[in-house]
Amino acid sequence: MSNEEISLFDTKSRQLQPLTSSDGKKLRIYSCGPTVYRDAHVGNMRTFLLGDLITRLAKQLGHKVEFIQNITDVGHMSEDFVEDKILAQAKAESKDPFEIARIYEDRFHKDLAHLNISPADKYPKASECIDLMHELITLLISKNHAYVGSDNCVYFAAQSFDTYGAISGNRLDSLKPGHRFEYTEDGAKRFHADWALWKAAGERKEMIWDSPWGPGFPGWHVECSAMSLHYLDEFVDLHLGGIDLRFPHHEDERAQSNCAIGKESVALWVHGEHLLFEGRKMAKSTGNVVLVSDLISKHIDPLALRLCFLENRYRSQMDLSWDSLKAAHLLLQRWREKIQIWQKDATVDQINANELIAEVIADFRQDLDTPRALQKLRTIEKSEDIKDSTKFKVFSSLDNLFGLNLLTVSTKKDLDQLSKGLLEKRALARSSGDFVESDRLRDELVKLGITVKDNKEGQSWDWLI
Ligand code: AMP
Ligand code: ZN
Repeated sequence: MSNEEISLFDTKSRQLQPLTSSDGKKLRIYSCGPTVYRDAHVGNMRTFLLGDLITRLAKQLGHKVEFIQNITDVGHMSEDFVEDKILAQAKAESKDPFEIARIYEDRFHKDLAHLNISPADKYPKASECIDLMHELITLLISKNHAYVGSDNCVYFAAQSFDTYGAISGNRLDSLKPGHRFEYTEDGAKRFHADWALWKAAGERKEMIWDSPWGPGFPGWHVECSAMSLHYLDEFVDLHLGGIDLRFPHHEDERAQSNCAIGKESVALWVHGEHLLFEGRKMAKSTGNVVLVSDLISKHIDPLALRLCFLENRYRSQMDLSWDSLKAAHLLLQRWREKIQIWQKDATVDQINANELIAEVIADFRQDLDTPRALQKLRTIEKSEDIKDSTKFKVFSSLDNLFGLNLLTVSTKKDLDQLSKGLLEKRALARSSGDFVESDRLRDELVKLGITVKDNKEGQSWDWLI
């Protein structure tokens, strides 16, 4: 493996494969983006981090990258395939569906920024790419890979694509009728596993567009084919998404794209495993959902979440907890403080910082082995043989790759007036010997998330995390 090579586990071939630029100019990367009908939870953020990690690494190694992530603002149906997720939320919030989409899209970008996830080069919205989808569907019909059903929906003919199922192992002959498929309209489809590319509007009045097949709206899978082929010039070097998207979303996308261009459309399919929270699946339906804003309101640095993600290999399921977030928050603080101290050391070390840096980068290059890379940082931190100046060089040079803002000086978030007042009262109570009152005020402050310590100089406070 050369020093610039990145190897990643490809779900389709089930082995490590080098990430290469097929046009010799840049790496073309596509990631399935959010369905913007609600706040993204921290599980979604784990998957979204993947694109950022690979992009940062590739750029560090001198590659050019074109990274596209779509915004699904139409066509993603609810679990029972009855209602569009955006329309259902618009009804629940009594808002226009496009307003819902813009609100949650805006929040998605803010969440990414909190986690230092660098923006993609483009975020095409499904609702603004309807013409591209029409072109793709027309092409698929002309090549006999798609047909208009008796219900005026356009379906992809699953059996017209020989290698359907290669990513997930779900072969067509083992998919029984009755397996849940989108929009099962009795008799409208030729084959039970065909899926809708374009759905007839029927009773639906909002988020519908004219088309050569009558008014309607696109299927979710066709969106990603249309956008990835268009924005990445008909080939994707690396396609990313969460593990649940392997089937049917990515199988269907692969079938559509491959049939449209007449060859394999994606070189590598990489999937991130799911995040659990305190042992349970993260899902809105079970109420087990944690948002980036929840961390912030508990005074936990959102980058502690990023650090927790890095402590786990992207393709292993990971169980997040408040305790691991707090531990990561404290580790970030400790490293930031130490870096400020190491920075002051002007001596020269015999140990070559560049070699240590290259070893850590090699872990990233080996299928993003971030737990191993972090272990190396811990060893370097603790080493008595490595001088502070070298530690500073290693940590500061790698800061951009890890994206943990280690060079920032930790500052405490400002106190509000109420907390300030309580702290002043407590200092007064203590100095006048009223320990009952000072203990009561300490309890009040704890409720506000503040911990107070008494020392020779008086009292000091910190955020309780
Ligand atoms: P959605 O907004 O529901 O379309 O999901 C956006 C992305 O998050 C997709 O790539 C999903 O595969 C991924 N995802 C959903 N749930 C989780 C989870 N618990 N852990 C990690 N990724 C997830
Ligand atoms: Zn997608």
